[in-house]
Amino acid sequence: MKYYLGLDVGGTNLAAGVVTEEYEIISRKSVPSGAGKSVEEIVKAMADVSKDALSEAGLKEKDVDYWGIGMPSCVNPKTRLLVHANCFGWRNVPILDYLSTHTQLPILIENDGRCAAYGEILAGAGKNYENAMMLTLGTGVGGGIILEGKIYSGADRMGCELGHTKLVYNGWECTCGQRGCLDVYCSARGLLRIAGEEMQEKPEDLTVRRIFDNWKEGDALAEKIVSRYVDYLVAGLSTFITIFRPEIIILGGGIANAGEAFLERVNRNLKKGTFSGEEIGVPRVVRAKLGNDAGIIGAAMLGAKQNHTASAKRHMGRADEKLEMEAEYDSFFNRQIQ
Ligand SMILES: [Zn+2]
Repeated sequence: MKYYLGLDVGGTNLAAGVVTEEYEIISRKSVPSGAGKSVEEIVKAMADVSKDALSEAGLKEKDVDYWGIGMPSCVNPKTRLLVHANCFGWRNVPILDYLSTHTQLPILIENDGRCAAYGEILAGAGKNYENAMMLTLGTGVGGGIILEGKIYSGADRMGCELGHTKLVYNGWECTCGQRGCLDVYCSARGLLRIAGEEMQEKPEDLTVRRIFDNWKEGDALAEKIVSRYVDYLVAGLSTFITIFRPEIIILGGGIANAGEAFLERVNRNLKKGTFSGEEIGVPRVVRAKLGNDAGIIGAAMLGAKQNHTASAKRHMGRADEKLEMEAEYDSFFNRQIQ
């Protein structure tokens, strides 16, 4: 049996796991992310929690081929800098250099939303699909696109920011500084803002859950709010379908748990609201299956499909071969890079 080490870095937790070639997590460890601490401290915690996950599985570094990491933002393969990670306030951080002081393993880093999408197509709601997209409807909106079984990320890995695609011209201001992003309308924050506009008086403690509970009970105001929210979401999804037509669309995050009736509404409206939807149909929108495990599995498997040479090399302590594997990974996941 082969084993893979994955780490999912979020603003709240660092979650590491050892994953088998059948995508089963056999050990997992989680610690608080330590937002506000120094880069060195956070990087050390990333290494420690990953080593703990290995130890718990009875393994050592030499038993895995690489260390797969999913984290906010992305490492630019040209500069090898992590461009920005808002949850830590990082800009252009030489993350690979910091991480390298803690490990002999090749380090493969990918955006966390894309890792979750990859995990879902390997082992979750998108299993057996080659072309899929995932949208995570949480506090913000993240996601990833899988094309022909590979993570798609665009030039310098800086594309595929699904939450910051434009939905409304000159619309509400987004946390990214732009206006009208899908994120501002389709996140939990967006839903609450829509509710605020539709209600005469919005209760201070209004939650996403309460809106959907009221909606399921047939409340007319909740219907107005959810209906408007679905319109925004469908507009965003229909654009993605029209551009690259995935075989399946996976929704993650809190809002995706609103229930079957919500998913049915999205599916029905999507067919009506998409170019040629009535004639050729639209991909089905389903709920993600793996929850937080998707990010760990996706990160762990980042190098699994192109590591035919890596196992033979056993790279330990060989800086040139380590870099070679990291470069192989870049070319595998990003066809823009030669
Ligand atoms: Zn934005």
